[in-house]
Amino acid sequence: MTDVKDFFDFDDAEKCQALAELLFPEVTETPEQCLERFPKRELKEGAKVTRFAPSPTGFLHFGGLFPTTVGERLAHQSGGVFILRIEDTDAKREVEGAAEKLIVTLDHYGIKFDEGATADGEKGIYGPYYQSKRGPIYHVFAKQLVREGKAYPCFTSDEELMKMNAVDKKAEIKEKDWHFDAEAAREQMLDQRRFTLDDVKSSLEKGEKFVLRIKSNGSAENKRKFTDLIKGTIDVPENDEDFVLLKSDGIPTYHFAHAVDDRLMGTTHVIRGEEWLPSLPKHLQLFAYLGFKAPKYMHIAQIMRLDENGAKKKLSKRDMGANMEDYRRMGYAPDCVMEYVMTLLNSNYEEWHMQNPDKKYTDFPFDIKKMSTSGCLFDFAKLNDVSKNVLSRYSADRIYEGVTEWASDYDPDFCRLLTRDPEYTKRVFAIGRGGKKPRKDFGTWGETKGYMGFFFDELFSVTDSFPEGKSAEDAKKMLFDFAEQFDIADDQNVWFDKIKAIADKYGYASDMKAYKASPEAFKGSVADVSSFMRLAVTGRLNSPDMYEVMQILGYERVVNRINNFAKAL
Ligand code: GLU
Repeated sequence: MTDVKDFFDFDDAEKCQALAELLFPEVTETPEQCLERFPKRELKEGAKVTRFAPSPTGFLHFGGLFPTTVGERLAHQSGGVFILRIEDTDAKREVEGAAEKLIVTLDHYGIKFDEGATADGEKGIYGPYYQSKRGPIYHVFAKQLVREGKAYPCFTSDEELMKMNAVDKKAEIKEKDWHFDAEAAREQMLDQRRFTLDDVKSSLEKGEKFVLRIKSNGSAENKRKFTDLIKGTIDVPENDEDFVLLKSDGIPTYHFAHAVDDRLMGTTHVIRGEEWLPSLPKHLQLFAYLGFKAPKYMHIAQIMRLDENGAKKKLSKRDMGANMEDYRRMGYAPDCVMEYVMTLLNSNYEEWHMQNPDKKYTDFPFDIKKMSTSGCLFDFAKLNDVSKNVLSRYSADRIYEGVTEWASDYDPDFCRLLTRDPEYTKRVFAIGRGGKKPRKDFGTWGETKGYMGFFFDELFSVTDSFPEGKSAEDAKKMLFDFAEQFDIADDQNVWFDKIKAIADKYGYASDMKAYKASPEAFKGSVADVSSFMRLAVTGRLNSPDMYEVMQILGYERVVNRINNFAKAL
C-alpha cells in the first residue's frame, strides 16, 4: 500500500504542474492566450449579453420558450447580444436532428439571435457555438485547474462512477434506482483524492480513462447570501462535492462548460429554469476557481398546469402544449403564441397592448420585476382568447396567408377550397375586420373552418335546429317571398326594407321597439325573420352580418339555399 506521505500533495506547485502535463500533454495554449481570443465585447453601458443554451435532446418545450423570450428581450431591449449555444455534450441523450429542429422552431416563433448556431452553420466570433466543438478550449481551463491544485483525475470504472456521480444529480449519470449512502459516498470521494503521480502515470500508460473532478474546498454548512434577479436574495450553501468537470471521454459536464463558455462569450445574465438552482453552488465555486467574474443569474419558475382535480402540476414534456412544434399543427400563429408568452411573463403586458394595439410585443418595456416568482399557469383557454385578439387585428390577406399555409399541411381538402378563388376567400375573411371592434371568431387556423366553412357548398349543411316555438309554416312562406324578391344589387337599406315588409306581411313586427312594447300583438319580430334566413343561408343561428354574407355568397347560392331550406320545412 502507498505510504500516506507519498500521496499527491495538492499544495505542491511542482507536482501539480507535473500532473497537469501528464493529463493534458497536448494543451499548449495558456488560459491567458485563450482569453485573448475572446475579446471583451464593445457594448454600451448596461447592454446585456444573454444566451439560450438548449441541449439537443428533444423538442423545444413551452417552458424553454419562456427563458428564451426573457433572454431575447433583455438583450435586445438593452442594445446587447443574444446568443444561441447548442449544449451538445451529452451524446447519450442527444437526439439526432434535434439541434436543427430547435433552430427551425425558434425561427418560426420569430426569435432572432445575433450570434450562434444557425440553419446553415454558425455566426459570430465567440464560437464555436456547439459545445461539442469546443473541446480544446475546455481542456485549457481544465489544465489550469489541475496546475493550481483545484482539480484531479479519477481513474474509476463506469459502475463506480455511476455511484459517485449520483451525488451530482445534474452530472452525466442519472441512475436513480440504487440505494445512496451519503457518508460512504463522501468517504469514497475523499479516497479519490489519495493517489500518487506514479499511479496516474501507470494508469495512463495502460490506456485507462479518467474523469476530472474539482477538488472542492467548500462546506455545505457555510451559506452565503446570493441575489437571484428573480428569486431575490437567497441562501446558497458552498459546494462540498468533488463533482465531475470532464467526463472520461474528455467532454465537459454542463457545469464546467457553463462556466467556461459564459465567461468566454461574455454572458452578463444567465437566464435558465429553476431546476438549475441546486447547481448554483457548483457554478459559483467554478467561477471563483477559474478566476472569472460570475454572471448575474435569473432562475425562472417552471410552468404549471392544472390537472383533472384542479391541482397545480408542472407542465411536463408529455403534456399537451409542451411541445412547441405542436402549436403549428394545432394551428396557432407564432404571433399568438408569443403574445401569450408575453402575457404570462409580465402581468401588465395585456393592459399595455390594449392601450397600444398597433405596437409589437418588442415595443413593450419588458421588466423582470414584473415576472412571477412562483410559476405561471399554462392554460389553453387563455391562449385561445389571446390568440383571437391577435388574429382579429390581422388583415384579411394575412389571415388568408396563414390559413392556407396551415391548411396546405394539415387539411389539404380545406386548402383546395380556400385557394380555389382567393379573392372570394379573402372577402370572407374581410367581414368585420379593420374597425375599432373587430370580430373575434377564431383563435386557430383550424377554427376558421367552423366559422366560415358554410361559404363553400362542399362544407355547407344546416347544423342548427329550427328555433323552438316558431312557426315553420310562416318561415316557409317568408323565405319563398324573400327568395323571389332578393336582388344582389340592392344596397343594405333596400335589402332590409324588403325583409321588414315581409315581416309586416305575416304579422311579425318590423319595428323592434313596437314589438318590445307589446309582443303579444305580433307573432314574432323581424329578428325571427332574420333567424330563418340565417339558418337557411349559413346553416346556423349565429353568423357574421347577413347582408355581407349574402353579398359574398352571390345570388344563386343564396336563392338556392333559401329555396331548398324552405322546401324542406
Ligand atoms: N443546456 C441546459 C439545459 O438545456 C441549459 C441551461 C442553461 O441555460 O444554462 O437545460
